[in-house]
Amino acid sequence: MTRPWRKLDLSAWVSPAATGRWSCTRCGAEACSYRYRIHPPASPRYERCVGLTWCTHCRVYSAALIHVPHTTHLDDESMPPARPGQDERPGASEVQVLDHVDRLLSGP
Ligand SMILES: [Zn+2]
Repeated sequence: MTRPWRKLDLSAWVSPAATGRWSCTRCGAEACSYRYRIHPPASPRYERCVGLTWCTHCRVYSAALIHVPHTTHLDDESMPPARPGQDERPGASEVQVLDHVDRLLSGP
């Protein structure tokens, strides 16, 4: 059974000032990050995205609403697309997304 993720605020991460990378205050490992869109292109909120930062060792993460211009391509095609008429992606809760991308990034 996989351990549950614990949500933390941004103080869980060492700022990238020194190294250019976010890292975990607990284990010192480099943090993973992922941005994804939650609104379809036609939505006025299309540019409001979610940014996740997490440590795969400690199973802790932070989530923030971030602004990503519509001209920026996000590599999130592996995510389930929103259904027509539905503003948000079905069932795309933070933790589900996190589980999904963590598996993708950390391999089998
Ligand atoms: Zn850690």
